[in-house]
Formats: sequence, C-alpha cells, structure tokens
Amino acid sequence: MDDRPSSPFQPRTVATRALGVGRPPSTALTPSIDVSTTYVRDPDNGYSSGHVYGRKDNATVQQAERQIAELEHARDAALFGSGMAAAIAVFTALPQTHIVAPRDMYWGLRVWLQSPHRHRHEVSFVDMSRPDEVRSALRAGKTGLVWIETPSNPLWTVTDIAAVADLAHRAGAMVCADSTVATPVLTNPLVFGADLVMHSATKYLNGHSDVVAGALASADRSELWSRIKDMRDQQGAVLGSFDAWLLTRGLRTLDLRVKEQSRSAALIAERLRGHPAVGAVLYPGLPDHPGHAIAARQMPSGFGGMLSLRLRGGVAAAITAAARVQLWRRATSFGGIESLIEHRASIEGKGSPCPDDLLRLSVGLEDPGDLYRDLAGALDLVTHM
Ligand SMILES: *Cc1c(COP(=O)(O)O)cnc(C)c1O
Repeated sequence: MDDRPSSPFQPRTVATRALGVGRPPSTALTPSIDVSTTYVRDPDNGYSSGHVYGRKDNATVQQAERQIAELEHARDAALFGSGMAAAIAVFTALPQTHIVAPRDMYWGLRVWLQSPHRHRHEVSFVDMSRPDEVRSALRAGKTGLVWIETPSNPLWTVTDIAAVADLAHRAGAMVCADSTVATPVLTNPLVFGADLVMHSATKYLNGHSDVVAGALASADRSELWSRIKDMRDQQGAVLGSFDAWLLTRGLRTLDLRVKEQSRSAALIAERLRGHPAVGAVLYPGLPDHPGHAIAARQMPSGFGGMLSLRLRGGVAAAITAAARVQLWRRATSFGGIESLIEHRASIEGKGSPCPDDLLRLSVGLEDPGDLYRDLAGALDLVTHM
C-alpha cells in the first residue's frame, strides 16, 4: 500500500500555492527576506500581525528600521528610497516656515532648498559652526527648523549639536541633523539634543556601494514625525525588501568598518600634511582643524573616514592627481569599503562653495600604508604644477 501523502489539489494548484502561507519553520541564524507585498487576514477578519500591505508594512524594511532606531537611541526610524527622499520628507512635512540651514550643506539638498518653486519655506543659510550666526538668523516663534550637517561634506566643518539645539529650542524650532558622515558609531545627534537625525544610508550605513537608501530617526513620536511617516507611506518613497536586507547585512559590520576607516583616515591625514603638493589637509581629527575640540567631544571614538586635500597647484594639480592614483577609485559617493577620490567641484558645478583645488577622499578598508603610498605617488607627480 502506498502511504505517501496525496494532495487534494491538482498539480497546478500544488505548484502555485507553494505549501501555503508564511515562512517555512526555521531557526535560521541569518535574517530572512520578506518579499511579500501583501499579508493574510486572520480568520476573525483582523490583522493581528500588524502587517497588511507591503508599501508600509514590509518586515525586512522594519527590521532595518529597528536596527537604525536602536543605533541612534531613537524612538522610531523610517527608511526611504534614498537620502534625498528622507531629507525632503522632513522639509515637505513641515508647515510653511522659516528654516536655518548650513551654507556648506550637502550640495544636492542645498540646490533643492535654493529652488523656491520646490517648497514653501523661507531659508537662511549660515555658518553653522558659529553659534552667534545661528543666533542672529533664528526668529523666535517663526523659525520651524534648524538643519545641521556635521561634519559637513566636503569641508568637514564641525557643528556643536548641543549648542545649536539649545539655541533652536529656545526659539521654538526643531533640529534635524544630517549625520551621514558621522554615522551612529561616532555621534548620536539625538543624545546631543537634536529631534531628528537623517542618514544617506547609501554611504556608511550600508557601506558596500550597492544600495541607495535613506533613513530618518526620531527622538519622539511627535506630530511632525507622524506626518513624515504618513507622507512616506502615501507617496511611496519606500525602500524595497532586497535593499533593506542588504542594508541590515551592511549594518552588522558598521561599527568595525567605521572605526577602522577612522583610524586609517587619521593616519593618512597626518602623513599627507608633510607632502609638498598639499596646501592643507581638512580633517576634524587634526589638532589644528577649527572644529577639533568640539569633534573630540562629539565624536569620542573617531573622527570619521572622510578627509579633503587642498593642492598648492590648484585645480589642474587636483584633477591630474586624481587621474594618477591606481588603488583609490575615481568616483563620487563615499562610505564604502573601497577607497574613493573625487575632484568635488567638478561634480557640484557652478555656484558650488567647494574650492576647485580640493580633492575629497573616502577611506575604505584597504591597508592604510598601501593607500598612502598610492596617493603620495600621485601627489609627487603634481608637486611642481
Ligand atoms: C549622499 C548624501 C545625501 C543624499 O543621499 P542619497 O542617498 O544620495 O540620496 C545627503 N546628505 C549627505 C551628507 C550625503 O552625503
């Protein structure tokens, strides 16, 4: 007698239903990817799992969000399809207001804020490293938001988050910090008094140059925070589950990567200071950097993996040196495991406050001695330009 199980269904049904609803029972060590766009109702017509529809309830996306919320000491976090989508969600969820933002903020956001047809706000740009400038730009009861970016890209200007948050809160404004460069390994802006923190997760959080994503994390479940999440869910600026899974995997080595990249960057910055082609090394870890003391307090376990060089030979020397390195890859973006070099003014274009003799370096996980020798060799070639 054949006691093998027999299905009540036709082969076509057996194949289509793939053993029915949900995950196979498993004690998998590694997180699974929830690719479902929809979830099954309970027999009593409810949704006790809390998962209804993929645009807002994807379990893999929520796992990465919880990871980021914990890392930032936040009440809640939300992922977006890019860093730009995350940042712009803050600006568009705000009722019409006055915003104070840094003059040397991430250029993509600065360009967006400077385009009056894109939003309803009035924006004042200030040197955020100077609390007196922030104080005089604030309008009590009228300024709704102060945007911080520290260290700022690509000059690595350091902002005292606690000081600016105090000034902003006295004037009745909220504070959002773009902490893409610092990462939660080096700074937790919410602990220093910011209300929101933003990340381009494309950079260090994912860290492998294979996902475009953005994140916001909030100190509390404020009215603004609910509006941000509602808008994200309605407008569909969401992250896909495969990307969220890669982000979760990248986050598992965030601490090790960022600390090692900070150590290598500090070493390279120190050694490059003596190179005759280099006029200045911009790195918050160097004692003569204007923001060094604040950075030392705000970034106790490292000054980050980003630095910039200003070349004595100007724009021609900068572009030539970038073309002569072998190990560093000549590409935009940063925060990945591979080291990148970029002539920043070339990509920012007209109107950029970025000096044209500047090379931006993103230090990866290669051996720092190899990285230094490769770069120093390229700089040797432009010493007399
Ligand atoms: C890259 C970047 C952004 C924008 O993020 P995307 O993921 O590219 O949309 C915002 N802020 C900073 C500081 C960045 O470096």
